Amino acid sequence: MKRNIIIITLLLAASQYIVAQTSGYQKLDEWVSVWKEAQKTTFGYPANQISPLHSFYKWYVEAGMDVVNLNNAGDPMTDNPERLSSQAFERDVIEFFAPLYDFDKDDVWGIVTHSGTDGNNHGIYFGANYLTNKTNLEPIVYVSDEAHYSNMRVAHLQDLEVRLIKSDKMGRMIPEELDKSLDTLRPALLVYAMGSTFKGAIDDQEALNRVLDSHPGIPAVYRHVDAALFGGYLPFTSDNKMVSHKAMRFESIAISGHKFFGIDSPCGLFICTRDVYENQTDFNVTYLNGNMRMINCSRDALQPLKFWWLIQTIGYDGWARQAKQMKECTAYLKQQLDAIKWPCWANEYSNTVFFRRPSADIVKKYTLAQGYDENFGGELAHVVVMQHVTKEKIDNFVAELKQQAECAEKCCQKP
Ligand SMILES: *Cc1c(COP(=O)(O)O)cnc(C)c1O
Repeated sequence: MKRNIIIITLLLAASQYIVAQTSGYQKLDEWVSVWKEAQKTTFGYPANQISPLHSFYKWYVEAGMDVVNLNNAGDPMTDNPERLSSQAFERDVIEFFAPLYDFDKDDVWGIVTHSGTDGNNHGIYFGANYLTNKTNLEPIVYVSDEAHYSNMRVAHLQDLEVRLIKSDKMGRMIPEELDKSLDTLRPALLVYAMGSTFKGAIDDQEALNRVLDSHPGIPAVYRHVDAALFGGYLPFTSDNKMVSHKAMRFESIAISGHKFFGIDSPCGLFICTRDVYENQTDFNVTYLNGNMRMINCSRDALQPLKFWWLIQTIGYDGWARQAKQMKECTAYLKQQLDAIKWPCWANEYSNTVFFRRPSADIVKKYTLAQGYDENFGGELAHVVVMQHVTKEKIDNFVAELKQQAECAEKCCQKP
């Protein structure tokens, strides 16, 4: 009798647990189970799948903030009257990150953006305004042909003249090609790729800067760094010089929040100098009590809070550990692929390994991103080694490739 009661109690507890896991909507529940499973082998895209925000959501709901409609419209870096916003935290976030990109505390402006693309939109828009304000001339945008397409899209949207500069085999803008296509009579708006989308190449900023320096007659220069992915982890490594505003002389930088930082929906950072901020077009908006520099009116108030939460709960040391692990696992993946003689390549500083494309079922299972380049034998795929791509998972992946290679070899030996 007593045993039955225990069993019934256990069953009740178990059923409650199951109920708690379902929404009551079949379509939604099926979708959850499909993606919970697929997440285990997602290798091809640069989103950190270990989203560390459970404690944040718990706090948010328990504090009753889920029924407060917040909005960060306005400039977080100037003093605003109290509004239902999280701008005080947004400012903390910019002040935490600014020194990591080597901006001085009193010479910085920034916002939490809606995405890396939003950051590039601001970089190119601010850059074009800055150059026109300083010179009264229309700038030309220079960007490599392997840079993220958002830069070309944004330049098109802003009706700017763009010169696509050829990149080398590994995906870096070729300095000599930049030199050839520079118009020295017009201001230059450089977008540096950090890195290129498929091969993970980082433009050689120092070499490109030397090209610019060799033409002192250019009316003005502005450099924006599109550092959506690498700008997340490089500040926490010994290669942090690559993302130094002072060493690399860029005016602005854009970073994604949902890539390295693992924020569970799109957001990012945009950071620039005060000089850039001061040289923008004025839009005085009295009802927002300020001069609106940023492109968007309403802005997300939740993302700055999530960023702020991560600064408290993970912080510099945690991110440094994660960056180290990613670097080690990238080297490990490359080494294991070399060991089975699977043709593969990786750029310096990069957590992307690209390689001969495996069979369609492996591409699908591991959601590999695909590319094509004759220089590397044609069909390619890549893995972006984020925090969730551990050595154990790499071992399983490489074992599957090995099996495929052995199968292919056997088939070839048949008469
Ligand atoms: C991912 C990425 C982007 C686009 O960023 P979103 O946050 O997806 O808008 C732009 N540039 C680079 C280099 C990227 O890696």
